[in-house]
Amino acid sequence: MTKETPMMKQYKEIKAQYEETFLFFRLGDFYELFFEDAVKAAKLLEITLTKRGTGEEAIPMCGVPYHSAESYISELIGQGYKIAICEQVEDPQTAKGVVKREVVRIITPGTVMEGKALEAKDNQYIGALDVTPGEQAAWVKADLTTGEISASLLSPDDLAIGRELSISGLREVVIAEEIDEKVKQQIQEHGLIESVEEEIEPLAGWEDKLVQISNVTLRQAAVRLLHYLHRTQKRSLDHLQAIQVEETTDFLLLDVHAKKNLELLETLRDKTRQGSLLAEVDQTATAMGGRLLKRWLERPLLDQTKIERRQGLVEAWKQDMILREDLREALTGVYDLERLVGKVAYQTVNARDLVQLRSTLESIPAIKALVEETDHEHADRLSRQMKTCDELKELLDRALVSHPPVSILEGGMIRTGYHAKLDEYREASQNGKTWISNLEQEERQVTGVKSLKVGYNKVFGYYIEVTKPNIAQLPQDRYERKQTLTNAERFVTPELKEKERLILEAETEIGTLEHELFVELRERVKEEISTLQELSILISEVDVLQGFAKVSDVNDYHKPTFTAGRTLTLTASRHPVVEQTLGSGEYVANNVYMDEERELLIITGPNMSGKSTYMRQVALTAIMAQIGCFVPAKEAELPVFDQIFTRIGAADDLASGQSTFMVEMVETKHALMNATNRSLLLLDEIGRGTSTYDGMALAQSILEYIHNTIGAKTLFSTHYHELTALADELPAAQNVHVAASEENEEVVFLHEVQEGRADKSYGIHVAKLAQLPTDVLYRAQTVLEELETAKGSDVAPSSSQEAEQLPLFTISEEAAASSGEAEELSPEKQKIIAEVECMDVLNMTPFEALQIINDWQHQLKQNNKK
Ligand code: ADP
Ligand code: MG
Repeated sequence: MTKETPMMKQYKEIKAQYEETFLFFRLGDFYELFFEDAVKAAKLLEITLTKRGTGEEAIPMCGVPYHSAESYISELIGQGYKIAICEQVEDPQTAKGVVKREVVRIITPGTVMEGKALEAKDNQYIGALDVTPGEQAAWVKADLTTGEISASLLSPDDLAIGRELSISGLREVVIAEEIDEKVKQQIQEHGLIESVEEEIEPLAGWEDKLVQISNVTLRQAAVRLLHYLHRTQKRSLDHLQAIQVEETTDFLLLDVHAKKNLELLETLRDKTRQGSLLAEVDQTATAMGGRLLKRWLERPLLDQTKIERRQGLVEAWKQDMILREDLREALTGVYDLERLVGKVAYQTVNARDLVQLRSTLESIPAIKALVEETDHEHADRLSRQMKTCDELKELLDRALVSHPPVSILEGGMIRTGYHAKLDEYREASQNGKTWISNLEQEERQVTGVKSLKVGYNKVFGYYIEVTKPNIAQLPQDRYERKQTLTNAERFVTPELKEKERLILEAETEIGTLEHELFVELRERVKEEISTLQELSILISEVDVLQGFAKVSDVNDYHKPTFTAGRTLTLTASRHPVVEQTLGSGEYVANNVYMDEERELLIITGPNMSGKSTYMRQVALTAIMAQIGCFVPAKEAELPVFDQIFTRIGAADDLASGQSTFMVEMVETKHALMNATNRSLLLLDEIGRGTSTYDGMALAQSILEYIHNTIGAKTLFSTHYHELTALADELPAAQNVHVAASEENEEVVFLHEVQEGRADKSYGIHVAKLAQLPTDVLYRAQTVLEELETAKGSDVAPSSSQEAEQLPLFTISEEAAASSGEAEELSPEKQKIIAEVECMDVLNMTPFEALQIINDWQHQLKQNNKK
């Protein structure tokens, strides 16, 4: 076997330290990948797999040009891989032997700083989790692109951990290898990348970031995260702010399912932003505002004073449209300050970014003035805190041209007049160029060749070009021949060469000097990082609040008030998203009233009548109120909720791909274990995922438990009409129903919520709307009538112990036992009838219905043969 080359040896040594990453190994203008990495990456990136070397020693290799590496990196990161960037760290021209190479940074899904993996209006979080089972869990999360970092203590259960793992923008979680397997599993279930970091002793200089943290576990998680970032990023983490400790008790807690079911950030079915509450209320003008709004939506406030502070500005800007529009206009001049600052700290900033910083700073005085003009004390406070950074702005203004290039190595960034030496070089270069441009005229005169040209190309430099027919006309020995083309000859003169040398020299100097000046500027900006970060926070807040004002004005939202008591009153309330998808005036506004005698509303009504919509609009209204936005209702008074839980019956949850009854029950458990009497519960058709009796039994016992033990405000929709009887038993439970009327045997949805229980379920009418075969409809109608005659019109529960708990049993037993046709029914027939009764007709295709009928027919025939 031949000896491997020194470079391959170097490669293998480096690769051994970065086993779990793709090693991007810099070779000239390419990043190369070798061996396994190459085979895998070629497939993932759809690039050609080649070989390095020949014969048996040939090794698999693939590569990407360094200047376009970013898109390939984004691609791999997007698929959840990590990449180690290995650069040449000495000049190949002066290096002896193999060029020294080092990994300069590891890019992971949670630490991407650039490229298409970053969405402007999304945060990108990396978290660290330490769990002491049975005691507490520590959670720290950071966004490297913005410098935001915060920590909070959680209870060590799946609900609390799941809530954090489901925050929007989280990509990666750093843990200790020996952490509880259940936690690892949870990380995987949330589709997050798991990274291990064992180091938990802080490095010198980290105390500044850790000052706020006293809890030992929390500190450990924070240090673990800092170590991981330090190890992978290999550079200063100066822009990471001091870690803020957040109390989870400061926020309205939304569990994973509430966020999903209420479609706060994306829709349940398609996972699109369009159709979510976020899309409806997002009128922010900046990327930073967009990100803050998302964070607010995931964490509504509990502190009424803070909420009212936000409301104050929304009100002021809702009323003063001119001021608001001016403010929006000014905000559009603001670039992504937070991320610009991140790039400065990372030294990935270029002159274009600094020009964006400059124009951002130019917008600040106007914003500050408009906020100051706003008549509200919170506005005064915000305005006072905004620092305009005039000195920095002036410096950037003096230093940078308006449209600098992307590269920071080739000059063209710095304005004339900023630096004397630079101006000198530029003049020298300019003089040379003028001399050359005059040369063409002069030589034409001297030689008499009218078509003589002076030109430039990258390889040969400046030249004088004369076409072949004119060569003979040239004075002897006037030019030196340089290059022969098909139709022309190119020449130089000693003088031209000298000028060229001067120009090139000057340009090299310009490139170097401009780079130096740029770095100086960058360092100067670096000193202002924390000021700029504070400014970003203030601007983001102003932006979100003006957005609330705008949407509240345009969509006719009104300011909600809060009560310490138990009443919830919404007058003419709407669902903020559904009302927009319907035409104007189509949405039927409804009132909601709850108090200590109406803690629990049992909502009945036909399928598709608007039960789910009604429930969700209450929850969405509460969330909008607690983030400081106005709400879609003429008037609204609500308690401040501490938690919102939702449980949507299995049949409505098919989109999640987990429509199992088990999931439904686990979620219900979370709600029952954690809800308090300050919580809001939405239970939409629970118990649907199992057989009728089971489901109803559970639904009833759950309702009783909430009513008797928790006392949370609860909206409960059900297709089990029998459950409406509960309102008679439970003092704080009330029936409401969504009205529908019948016209020519067709059901008409009124979407109007009225007191009392629905008179019937209209299932068959809905089936008709869905165009089930007429035979099925007809038969169902007959069966229904039979059943109704059988049970009589009175649904009152009997007095027996069992019947009290389960009103349905009463009915069924009565149905089976009462006189008339039903009496003769065999158990098989009864079973079929029970099936008809609980068929979810609307969620069935005609074909499924036919199959079921076919089964019934088969069973009946079998039965008759007996
Ligand atoms: P249910 O839960 O009773 O089956 P949904 O709440 O899913 O019904 O509502 C079904 C459809 O009815 C909604 O998609 C919406 O288009 C319409 N709808 C619901 N509530 C209203 C309303 N208040 N005004 C107008 N249309 C409504
Ligand atoms: Mg529904």
